[in-house]
Amino acid sequence: ASGYSLLRDPHHNKGLAFTEKERDAHYLRGLLPPVVVNHDLQVKKMMHNIRQYQVPLQKYQAMMDLQERNERLFYKLLIENVEELLPIVYTPTVGEACQKYGSIFKNPQGLFISLKDKGKILEILKNWPQKKIQVIVVTDGERILGLGDLGCQGMGIPVGKLSLYTALGGVRPSACLPITIDVGTNNEKMLNDEFYIGLRQRRASGQEYAELMNEFMSAVKQNYGEKVLIQFEDFANHNAFDLLEKYRTTHLVFNDDIQGTASVVLAGLISALKLVGGSLADHKFLFLGAGEAGTGIAELIALEISKHTNIPLEESRKKVWLVDSKGLIVRSRLDSLQHFKKPWAHDHEPVNKLLDAIKTIRPTVLIGSSGAGQTFTKEVVETMSSLNKKPIILALSNPTSQSECTAEQAYTWSEGRAIFASGSPFDPVEYNGKVYVSGQANNAYIFPGFGLGLIISGAIRVHDDMLLAASEALAEQVTQEHFDNGLIYPPFTNIRKISAHIAAKVAAKAYELGLASRLPQPENLVAYAESCMYSPKYRSYR
Ligand code: NAP
Ligand code: MN
Repeated sequence: ASGYSLLRDPHHNKGLAFTEKERDAHYLRGLLPPVVVNHDLQVKKMMHNIRQYQVPLQKYQAMMDLQERNERLFYKLLIENVEELLPIVYTPTVGEACQKYGSIFKNPQGLFISLKDKGKILEILKNWPQKKIQVIVVTDGERILGLGDLGCQGMGIPVGKLSLYTALGGVRPSACLPITIDVGTNNEKMLNDEFYIGLRQRRASGQEYAELMNEFMSAVKQNYGEKVLIQFEDFANHNAFDLLEKYRTTHLVFNDDIQGTASVVLAGLISALKLVGGSLADHKFLFLGAGEAGTGIAELIALEISKHTNIPLEESRKKVWLVDSKGLIVRSRLDSLQHFKKPWAHDHEPVNKLLDAIKTIRPTVLIGSSGAGQTFTKEVVETMSSLNKKPIILALSNPTSQSECTAEQAYTWSEGRAIFASGSPFDPVEYNGKVYVSGQANNAYIFPGFGLGLIISGAIRVHDDMLLAASEALAEQVTQEHFDNGLIYPPFTNIRKISAHIAAKVAAKAYELGLASRLPQPENLVAYAESCMYSPKYRSYR
């Protein structure tokens, strides 16, 4: 290959880091200025450039340009500056990027499969240059973060998630495939936007939708085999629950919004117990939002309680209450409830408002998973604080604009007593002369390590017990020092080590359950997981 094309191949390009010898051997002489710099200096320069931008979306674009220019530099940057760059390539900035994807769009990333491609999905998969795929993240763009239906422009989400698979979980970038399935959009703004990049029609549903998804699922298995992980991301709940139910017995599928979120929140609750005391079974949980995240978390809490006590699942579910857009979910609403809400319809008078639900249920834990911002009002937080010495309050909705409350509000309104974490990050808050650092309750803690665990064990199916194993592994990574600072999640700085631990526990569970196909089982799974992780170090070309 010519030097010119080497410089334009993001998988191999090293830019100014090509050595003198490499420049001679690969026809690069003259195509680069004379200086040779090392990888570390390149990182320093890029970070310097990125920090010059005031607008987060510009930082996002700079990161995407880098990913398309020099992949190893992109990942080294992300790994070494994870706390600073996560809010750029992931929530909240990725949300804004999706909203404006049509106008900032330069080069396509990932695979686009639309209704027009019916009957040709296998061919499309074969157009992708990489053949050995281990993880696919797929969306149909209908529920992007808490921003709603963004149609084809949801592509930013699979792209962002997979860059975290690599940076946080060590899955090789070439083994990752982002996919958007475009079945139209019901978002009028997109339909009328002249820069919109997707099909300009309303969403397909019913049989037409199911057939396209079915063709996709079969083509993936046919092309990549049984051990490729398919992560469903940001589907609307009516499809999300059905797809998971339909394919969990035939494919290696994982829904991050239902299962990943459940696992990360359970981890946070397990570690919060160290601060508030008692066991999970001693607590009472109230959710605002009874969709994928809410009911997914609720079920995993109930499962964990019944695993550790002799309380049957049916009974442990009664410790969990959910509020949706129509109020508290209660028995009298049973007939009109979507199927995933039915297990949570307990005996109680109807209650319309969250505040009233809090007053009558008297929860110790309040979890926001509705996608609607500013729903944890001053009165809500104050009431939680009057009922509990240390109220646990999780504002999971993303991006920041949809957060139930800010960290500052949570600490101020609870007079510094809340144990608070949020889906999108907040800066530390000073209240009454004390600094409060809140954690980020985000599935980014779980899915990279979880996926790595499936890959290294050659798992062929996902089992709920693997989610519990992941939660416990994450909770174990919270140290006394973190607790002393009020944190229920470890900082993201150590995320690769954390991911290796999660991967090891998930893999161990896969072996225990007989779902692992990579035999024999490695003796030290943590060490094995670490040894499998991608490193962004440059290779030398001879
Ligand atoms: P979803 O399946 O659409 O569920 C949303 C739920 O909230 C529904 O039950 C809906 O009620 C209810 N709701 C909406 N607006 C409401 C309001 N104003 N008052 C009361 N209830 C309301 O969505 P999801 O997948 O669960 O996601 C919800 C949010 O969680 C999103 O913002 C998403 O970004 C966030 N999330 C965060 C993480 C994380 O890691 N932190 C992970 C996943 C999701 P009806 O059922 O009555 O319509
Ligand atoms: Mn999601």
